[in-house]
Amino acid sequence: MGVWDALGLVLAQEVKTDREYPPFDRSTRDGYAVRSGEVKPGAQLKCVGEIKAGDTVTQVLASGACVQIMTGAAVPVGADAVVMIEHTQREGDLVRFERAVQAGQNIVPQGSEARAGQTILKPGMRLGFAELALAAQVGATQLQCAKRPRVAILSTGDEVVLIDEQPGPFQIRNSNSVSLAAQVRIAGGEPVVLGNAADRVEDLGEKIERGLNEDALVLTGGVSMGKYDLVESVLKALGAEFFFDAVAIRPGKPAVFAICKGKPVFGLPGNPVSAMVTFQLFVTPTIDLLNGAESHPLPLVEARLAQALNERPGLTHFLPARIEWRDAEPQVSALKWQGSGDIAALAGANCFLVVPAEREKIASGERVSVLLRKDVV
Ligand code: AMP
Ligand code: MG
Repeated sequence: MGVWDALGLVLAQEVKTDREYPPFDRSTRDGYAVRSGEVKPGAQLKCVGEIKAGDTVTQVLASGACVQIMTGAAVPVGADAVVMIEHTQREGDLVRFERAVQAGQNIVPQGSEARAGQTILKPGMRLGFAELALAAQVGATQLQCAKRPRVAILSTGDEVVLIDEQPGPFQIRNSNSVSLAAQVRIAGGEPVVLGNAADRVEDLGEKIERGLNEDALVLTGGVSMGKYDLVESVLKALGAEFFFDAVAIRPGKPAVFAICKGKPVFGLPGNPVSAMVTFQLFVTPTIDLLNGAESHPLPLVEARLAQALNERPGLTHFLPARIEWRDAEPQVSALKWQGSGDIAALAGANCFLVVPAEREKIASGERVSVLLRKDVV
């Protein structure tokens, strides 16, 4: 896999450095390379040349001399510091120094970032832009990556129509298929969209069985207490073993998880926001596991609550919210929303405000937990 195509994939090999980094003593400033012992306020040294980035450097800096040097260039043997050009005055060949300099200042020593042959990327790491740049830096332009797990997506409900169909007055478009496919991609999986199953045992059974051919199956809808919520009973008939069949959170309480024919199966609630939240909480880490990715904790941070909250206790709430840097600290405000069908509220959110189950009122100014929205933005 070429490094250009590996964004978001999980590395399946070690990547080692091909040489020391930096490969030479590198100047981090534009200025003058000097022997630090010779530089004091008012001292003058003769400038004997210049070194720009990329130049081959063989000369040794003589005592009583300095050399003009650019950022990224190799520091000559003999020099042990670089004085920023801003702290000097130049007259012809003479450079006058305004202040003293310490040995090592403005130089990154050879090998200080990495030794030659050192492992810098490990199997299980997810490749973001910095990891890809690191691979490119050491010449690892081809990378072995884990195959993206294939995640089948199946929505359910007699009211659901394809997104390019005109819904009848009491029908809705299958927006869950789109959000789930996007979330699968963001989590590192390959979505396999199976469409929609009617609320009928035969149709559900047939489509679930098709989904079980993939590495994992995510269903939405049909897991609540309604007469036509048939997902659990159909899964049971197929031999599913359930690990949970409800979660003490809102939105997302009806979510279920089972293993069926050796495959992980999630039944997420049909309500769009519930499906999105439970996906991030439960499916994203599962895709990491299937991908051989090292596990990482949920992206939880702390912020100051901007406006007081009043929620029903008993369930941990995940409220669509915005976190922003204000008055020198992160502040979070819950957004107005009409409940778990309100996709528009989540579309303007960048996080979920976490209200613990035992809390009813939270005063403004209290510190609260915030789950960052895992997304491309
Ligand atoms: P359910 O979990 O099946 O009871 O559905 C709960 C709510 O989510 C209902 O209002 C459904 O119309 C809605 N819903 C179910 N499936 C989808 C879907 N695929 N896309 C958008 N909304 C859905
Ligand atoms: Mg339904």
